[in-house]
Amino acid sequence: MSTIKVENLCCTYGEKTPFEQHAVKNVSFEINRGDFVGLIGHTGSGKSTLVQMLNGLIKPTSGKVYVDDVDLWAKPKEIRKFRFKVGLVFQYPEYQLFEETVYKDIAFGPSNMGLSESEIKERVIKAAKFVGLKPELLNKSPFDLSGGEKRRAAIAGVIAMEPEVLILDEPTAGLDPVGRNVLLSQISQYQKAKNNTVILVSHSMEDVARVTNKVMVMNKGELAMYGNTQDVFAKSTELSKMGLRVPQITKVIDALRAKGIALPEGILTVDRAVCEITELLKKEGKM
Ligand code: ADP
Ligand code: MG
Repeated sequence: MSTIKVENLCCTYGEKTPFEQHAVKNVSFEINRGDFVGLIGHTGSGKSTLVQMLNGLIKPTSGKVYVDDVDLWAKPKEIRKFRFKVGLVFQYPEYQLFEETVYKDIAFGPSNMGLSESEIKERVIKAAKFVGLKPELLNKSPFDLSGGEKRRAAIAGVIAMEPEVLILDEPTAGLDPVGRNVLLSQISQYQKAKNNTVILVSHSMEDVARVTNKVMVMNKGELAMYGNTQDVFAKSTELSKMGLRVPQITKVIDALRAKGIALPEGILTVDRAVCEITELLKKEGKM
């Protein structure tokens, strides 16, 4: 069973005006439960528009979105329940913190789900811990937090709803390298803990290579590629035509392979590269 299925999805902004913009054009795909999907594409290729259609924040101009085989727009009045099931963390979510305290901000989503006070509290504390926010920050104003803490608070607000599908639109943009890695590991853990589905929109091919098993490529509003991470990153020529690249380490390994060094194809991460190079050196008796 697919968790998310979309058919011939289109989104046109400013339809029938001089500013008409076809942001998403005739996109169809299925995402299975437990998949960790990387969504990549040049700026303006339609990634943010696409993910906002997956939880009903944007109504498609045409086409269908199914969540657990239920048509999202069959009963527009019930659209809210899908927002709990498909949690979306916006690009720069820290600008959406608005409550007096961090606690209230994280509690906002769960409070709308009809949970008891004690359940809400439990979820807020768990989500804050999960994203690495210190408990003493919960009573502060979100405006007193650092940039990285604000980002984590905003993510905790979505995690606290425990969505079956978690979508993050460039969650690591603007974070320092340590912050990025910690956040990425936590997202990975969220996916593994309950076999949840995660969609990660990212400009970092390194991040995508590290955590995803599937990659979707958007190009000028169209779905240009969708497949296993390894297979998509094997198409470096096609990717570069779309203004994208493969991970740097993949380029290094491919350059070495071109010089006749016997390394395998499809190395996407530094960790894997280290293993393979060590293996090779051992084999040649140089280690
Ligand atoms: P991405 O997230 O890949 O950068 P977007 O989905 O934000 O792409 O944008 C896709 C296209 O739609 C772009 O050309 C963008 O300018 C346009 N667009 C995005 N949001 C709006 C909007 N609210 N109104 C009009 N055009 C928009
Ligand atoms: Mg975007």
